[in-house]
Amino acid sequence: MEALDLGAATPELTARGQWRPGDVDVPSRQETCILDTATQPLLKPPVDMTATAARSRQLDARNFIGGQFVESRDVPLNEVRNPATGTVIAHAPLSRPSDLDAAVAAATAAFPAWSKNPIKERVQVFFRYRRLLEDNIAGLAALITQEHGKVAGEAEAEILKAIELTEFACSLPQIVAGEVLEVSRGVECRIERHPLGVVASIVPFNFPSMVPHWTIPNAIALGNCLILKPSELVPLSAGRIAELLRDAGLPAGVFGVVHGGREIAEAICDHPGIEAVTFVGSTRVAQQVYRRAGGSLKRVLALGGAKNHLIVLPDADPDLTAANIVASMSGCSGQRCMAASVMVAVSEADHIIGRLVEHARAIVPGSTLGPVISGEAKARIERYIAEAEAAGATVLLDGRNAVVPGREGGYYVGPTVLDHVSPDMRIAQEEVFGPVLAIVRTRSVDEALRVENASPYGNAASVYTENGGLARYVTERASAGMVGVNVGVPVPREPFSFGGWNESKYGACDITGRGSIEFWTQAKKITTKWTSEAGTSWMS
Ligand code: NAD
Repeated sequence: MEALDLGAATPELTARGQWRPGDVDVPSRQETCILDTATQPLLKPPVDMTATAARSRQLDARNFIGGQFVESRDVPLNEVRNPATGTVIAHAPLSRPSDLDAAVAAATAAFPAWSKNPIKERVQVFFRYRRLLEDNIAGLAALITQEHGKVAGEAEAEILKAIELTEFACSLPQIVAGEVLEVSRGVECRIERHPLGVVASIVPFNFPSMVPHWTIPNAIALGNCLILKPSELVPLSAGRIAELLRDAGLPAGVFGVVHGGREIAEAICDHPGIEAVTFVGSTRVAQQVYRRAGGSLKRVLALGGAKNHLIVLPDADPDLTAANIVASMSGCSGQRCMAASVMVAVSEADHIIGRLVEHARAIVPGSTLGPVISGEAKARIERYIAEAEAAGATVLLDGRNAVVPGREGGYYVGPTVLDHVSPDMRIAQEEVFGPVLAIVRTRSVDEALRVENASPYGNAASVYTENGGLARYVTERASAGMVGVNVGVPVPREPFSFGGWNESKYGACDITGRGSIEFWTQAKKITTKWTSEAGTSWMS
């Protein structure tokens, strides 16, 4: 493994390998837009990790089982690369099913005591955890930058969103209270929400901290014990989450981390000790996980990939629309399941497209744009661009072959804008997951909606217009679970719930907010009759 220089611009590492907030500027909550980070000024370029280090540390990921980090013996190790440089920065174990067995046993042992605590006591852990997240924003964000490549502002926004998700869990006692009704004289019906038991979350690479926080606080505050399987590409943030939860007072076994790839995900689907599984990742794998975990009679919610359409009407505000679409397509290097992928221009749109290209041209890879996750991802994205060009698309801005001086090994793709893409091209249909915008020209709103509706996905869609009636017309007809009006990344903020439609989500409920409560609990309906009053009513 190469020595790692965290450089003067990064927080210090303590002897335990923990980050300590140091000299990184942290944006205030107001400064960083959680909804759409790329519209905000990016605070500084990615951490420079190319030089040799005096303060180098090994950042290897370890499983977290029964409240302890455990060494995995005799298992293959996966290399973790910093995508900004291509260098190996850590290793993560490709765990075996026996490691999962140990995590399930620890969680099963912890469940009776944890679930018996009243919810108002369980959430006290998350009040403390929220404070720890806030105290450690800089270090947590720097870790995301290292393992994922996100620029500082994007990484910090991810932690701010994790804080917001934790705050929602803190508010759960107020939300789950109060389902009681006297249904007839002396007879009362009441609903209690009970946890399911040991549950698991399988997460993707693109948000190493935020997506785990979609499930961890809610599932655990509602009384479950949760096992997380991070992406093997970005396994480091999970270790810090485990440490901070332990520091917040979460009892041993209530939260566990088992690293690995497909084998562990499949073992989670099959494990008889796991009651429910959430998955976030590509549609192909979401389908496999949904079928496999469902086949072993688990409750499953599997979120898949996306192809998000932004419908632009001719009356849209040109500056706002252009800036917003570029932020949506390029933020997090296009590696967001809510990213703009296709702009569907209705009628005359040259004045907006011209500004959009200007905005995109101002983005600087390595400074205001991070790398994509891997060399394979870069090659795949560049293939999509080449194929679209060969099929007749006009390349207005070409991000292929982007090289950042000093980081020649990094996996950079510059912002790319392709005009006159036809709906039957692969780039208009498949998820590219890079900073690439395909523009499809249409003559009417209905034609634009037909393009959007034809997509098998259904995560997000947006419309840009100043006309309320037309906005309503589109929001009613878009075939997506999350729809925006003049918003490029229409992520519902808490307490609203995150979840798409069609091939972007399999299973009932949503993964965050109010929509997740039903998923993480089972309802007990209690009917009580008090004999002295029963049988009487106001009529008798
Ligand atoms: P991925 O599907 O390759 O991997 C996701 C997780 O599944 C990882 O933990 C991985 O180890 C595991 N996995 C991989 N292959 C598996 C298999 N055959 N069986 C079981 N598990 C397997 O996804 P990714 O590349 O890590 O993430 C990017 C994808 O995630 C994109 O498609 C993106 O749209 C999607 N995503 C969707 C949402 C959403 O809310 N819908 C959110 C974030 C990301």
